[in-house]
Amino acid sequence: MPIDATLPYDDDNVFAKILRGEIPSDKVYEDEWAYAFNDIAPQAPTHVLVIPKGKYVSWDDFSARASDAEIGGFVRAVGKIAREAGLVEPGYRLLANVGADSGQEVPHLHVHIFAGRPLGRMVA
Ligand code: 5GP
Repeated sequence: MPIDATLPYDDDNVFAKILRGEIPSDKVYEDEWAYAFNDIAPQAPTHVLVIPKGKYVSWDDFSARASDAEIGGFVRAVGKIAREAGLVEPGYRLLANVGADSGQEVPHLHVHIFAGRPLGRMVA
């Protein structure tokens, strides 16, 4: 069910529980700013979700409220994960859904990394 990205942060969302270690995840990377794990229902051979350690509902919330250090740390982590996985060539795609029309389902910011096959042209 798509979420309303203007609602306050919900501490009981599934990615908050993953960050707290209350439910398991297949971790691929962690640092001070970011945690990354494999998507439970992958849509490409590589489908990693990268989430900030801070409590942000969406990219909109993050870009408005996060500190420059959090934003810098998170963006660098996303790039590092892709580089270290050898994805730069032949390439990868980043996606962050925001709000109902995008289909965002989990109200904790997550950037999808898709790779491992030709991903086709963007449809929107
Ligand atoms: P959204 O549609 O919000 O951009 O993407 C949410 C993503 O989270 C989906 O790709 C979905 O498969 C993934 N997901 C939802 N619940 C879990 C979970 O408990 N564990 C993992 N690893 N991924 C999840």
